[in-house]
Amino acid sequence: MQMPDDLPDLSLSENAELVLRKRYVRKGPEGEEMETPQELFWRVAAAIAASETAYEQTPFSQEALARRFYDLMASCRFFPNSPTLMNAGTELGQLAACFVLPVGDSMEEIFDAIKYAALIHKSGGGTGFSFSRLRAADSRVGSTGGVASGPISFLRIFNTATEQVKQGGTRRGANMGILRVDHPDILEFIRVKEREGELNNFNLSVALTEDFMRRVEADAEYPLIAPQSEKEVGRLRAREVFTLLVQKAWESGDPGIIFLDRINRDNPTPQLGDIEATNPCGEQPLLPYEACNLGSINLSRFADAPAQELDWEGLRESVHLAVRFLDNVIDASVYPLPQITDQVKRNRKIGLGIMGWADLLYQLRIAYDSRQALSLGEKVMDFIQKEARSASKDLARERGPFPAYADSVFGKQNLGPYRNATTTTIAPTGTLSILAGCSSGIEPLFALSFVREVMDGERLVETNPIFRQAMEEAGCASQRLLDEVARKGTVRDMELVPDDMRNVFVTAMDIDGEAHLRMQAAFQKYTDNAVSKTVNLPHEATQEDIRHIYWLAYEQGCKGVTVYRDGCKSVQVLSTEESR
Ligand code: ADP
Repeated sequence: MQMPDDLPDLSLSENAELVLRKRYVRKGPEGEEMETPQELFWRVAAAIAASETAYEQTPFSQEALARRFYDLMASCRFFPNSPTLMNAGTELGQLAACFVLPVGDSMEEIFDAIKYAALIHKSGGGTGFSFSRLRAADSRVGSTGGVASGPISFLRIFNTATEQVKQGGTRRGANMGILRVDHPDILEFIRVKEREGELNNFNLSVALTEDFMRRVEADAEYPLIAPQSEKEVGRLRAREVFTLLVQKAWESGDPGIIFLDRINRDNPTPQLGDIEATNPCGEQPLLPYEACNLGSINLSRFADAPAQELDWEGLRESVHLAVRFLDNVIDASVYPLPQITDQVKRNRKIGLGIMGWADLLYQLRIAYDSRQALSLGEKVMDFIQKEARSASKDLARERGPFPAYADSVFGKQNLGPYRNATTTTIAPTGTLSILAGCSSGIEPLFALSFVREVMDGERLVETNPIFRQAMEEAGCASQRLLDEVARKGTVRDMELVPDDMRNVFVTAMDIDGEAHLRMQAAFQKYTDNAVSKTVNLPHEATQEDIRHIYWLAYEQGCKGVTVYRDGCKSVQVLSTEESR
């Protein structure tokens, strides 16, 4: 489709343009830019609108729809996940960010998984694996009479393979490795990232269950089960394992935990199997060979600051259009394996989420760590989930329900039909939030002013524009103040700043761990899949603090939790000048 010459301009910041040029714009053989940012968004909009021609019924002309998609992105109200921006309308055409691959207990299956992961990484996607089916280290190998090397040694091979597949110079490849808490090698797994740099291309999570948590509470033992024979091969005290998990998370942030039984309770298509793993950042549980594409609405674009409200009507409209966009992405995407194509097309999962939440709270002058913020969070996500489902119902009427619908939990309870087995996920939006110029996901701001290290050590300095404007309006935006903010990152203890502002403009480090966790739980209540959130803790946080957070996550119905204690690793992605 020819790009019309009357498209509205882009509203991108300088930093956003830099990232866009470096990472997303198509390059020629000499590294020269083959498209402008405007052409990039048109390429994506046109490709995603064109995939709709496969359906008999569509309420839009192709160009009208492409224009709407273009507007949605150009105005920074919504972005699809990075692979869609990079690859839509190109030869590669792989558009999903999240994949889960099975790892079976044979050499063939293990090395197949490594090869498949390489293909996915090459296309910009991230992979999650459960290693729980691999027999334990030192158990017998029938065919050779030798002994097995166990999940941990294979994890290292996956890690090395990832290291070698640089993703076209853009993304390095991210993985999630999961092991069930009742696997015989669990203690080694919990300790494997003790040495910094070990398994650097993996996030790790231990799969817990509610039964395990009850045993922690009762200080009881639990059985270790050999994956092949399903026989008990040992016992551990649940509380000791839990304490070790807490200790390791305190030391390095790894491993995190997920509640696998909860995840499966929300599995919309149990007839197709159990969910064993999530994508790399944990927000998207998937079946083996399943992929999912995500997209995020930038809430800060829907603030009606004078009325202290949201533009609900505008939000509704964008959610409906975004769901249509993401459903089209499924058809437009070329998946790296036929098994993946089949699984994706059976369930048609999409993950619409948000970014710019902390910015919205700033705009409405609501403190992140307040009850008001929690109830607004619930209200917003409830609204988005309802509207996303209603959009998915509309699409089901137009195009039919997802093929696995009849035997799904929706089909059985007569709840649908829906076009998509899931509609909502809250992603980290690591790069998307830079493009949109907003705070990431549902995270509080790391600092009001900070240096962001992106891509090969390049540094970007950013001061939050909402904060800056508020200071100007209050007549206290002196250079001295701004320099001080750049140094400290927070204004909580700054006398130059009026009290009410100090409460509103809080940052990740001003907020206690419990407030982080409660925000995650508030959004999880209204999210089909899971919520990406890091519970940031100060350097002085104790292991007891982490234990408390883990317990709260369990009590509050979260599907997993990741904590990060400031300064526990020598390389951090975000830092203020003072902490450098
Ligand atoms: P983005 O903002 O670039 O769209 P997110 O930070 O929201 O990405 O991450 C969403 C998902 O994308 C992750 O959970 C993971 O599945 C995938 N992903 C993120 N970063 C990478 C990476 N470097 N390599 C491969 N996949 C990635």
